[in-house]
Amino acid sequence: MIIDLIRNYTKESLDELIKIRRHFHMNPELSGKEFQTVQYIEAFLTRLGGFTLQKVGKTGLIATIKGVSSGPCITLRADIDALPITEATGHSFMSRSRGVMHACGHDVHMAILLGVAKNLVKFQNEIKGTILLVFQPAEEAGAGGKDIITNSAYGASAPTAAVALHCAPHLPVGTISLKKGVMCAGVDQFDITLIGKAAHGSRPQEGQDAIVPATYLINELYRACSKLHVKKPAILTVGMIQGGDAPNIIAPNVLVSGTFRSVDEASREAIINMINHVMMMTGKKYFVKTSLAIPSTYPILINDDRLVDAIMRVAKDNFGKKSIIKMKTPELISDDFAFYKEVSPICYYLLGTAEDVKKPHILHSSTFDVDESSLYYGVLLQTIWALDLKEYF
Ligand SMILES: [Zn+2]
Ligand SMILES: [Zn+2]
Repeated sequence: MIIDLIRNYTKESLDELIKIRRHFHMNPELSGKEFQTVQYIEAFLTRLGGFTLQKVGKTGLIATIKGVSSGPCITLRADIDALPITEATGHSFMSRSRGVMHACGHDVHMAILLGVAKNLVKFQNEIKGTILLVFQPAEEAGAGGKDIITNSAYGASAPTAAVALHCAPHLPVGTISLKKGVMCAGVDQFDITLIGKAAHGSRPQEGQDAIVPATYLINELYRACSKLHVKKPAILTVGMIQGGDAPNIIAPNVLVSGTFRSVDEASREAIINMINHVMMMTGKKYFVKTSLAIPSTYPILINDDRLVDAIMRVAKDNFGKKSIIKMKTPELISDDFAFYKEVSPICYYLLGTAEDVKKPHILHSSTFDVDESSLYYGVLLQTIWALDLKEYF
């Protein structure tokens, strides 16, 4: 059976893939600056052979492999960027770049996709159609997914389906979780600027302080968000405040930045209206000018029903019924993989990477970690999925 051969070959590759994951982990690079990372991937795939490689932008890469018979064009995507976090895991393979860390598991995603690449070359005769491996930069910041799908190299291949996985530290190894329809929230970044007037600290009556209204605004944002009458979950987080020039100057301006997440357009609109209302109230109460900018939007991620059925069947056939943890409500995490839906139907699923489900690691934290045996499941699922899509679809 070909499946048994793929299983065995994946098992044989596991030690090498763990080494690759650790290499990425030790050498993380921030969004849009993944120069060494993509160079490593390119060198690996060149040594492997079998792929046509196309650079996208400065740090993106599309690797294409064709089968011997005709069939659909399938995209498998891995994001490749890291986060501005100082690692505190204490591992021997800790990040060597101070202040930068693979704390979202993108090192694992890359190692899995390179494992899939090895399988595809080894079992190239089994490929029906074309498979694109997309190594995508700038998922965490910069909407790199949008750059991929708008690049002619991607569009020219006319993909019929695109699939991506993401590490899930709260799920046991050997499981996946996903749902049909809305799978992940959309996320908008917001920047609220409050403008007052500078004055000497001893003469506040001559200025217009922007710091006190900023604290009022932040409290009101949280209070109003918790009282929003929306039917679906909606969340707002202030993640950054910048303001003031010196301790003895009345602060003339403050920037309040954050994100809000929603799983339908009505909730998104309700949050934007709420922010505008709170800004207006703050301006009236404290005599400061306010303005709102939304510099980045990642769309709501919507899974294709038939692709979800197909991936669940692959998981069930290969790892049993218990390997599927059905999601009832969408995750409030976001992913710019949502942009790929502009080109073809998509499917995004969570891959269990928990070392201990009772004490799950936290994504985007300095102690984030994975059970590396999860790589086996990721490689196998993505390989079988890509090879057998026609059978399952
Ligand atoms: Zn991520
Ligand atoms: Zn992330």
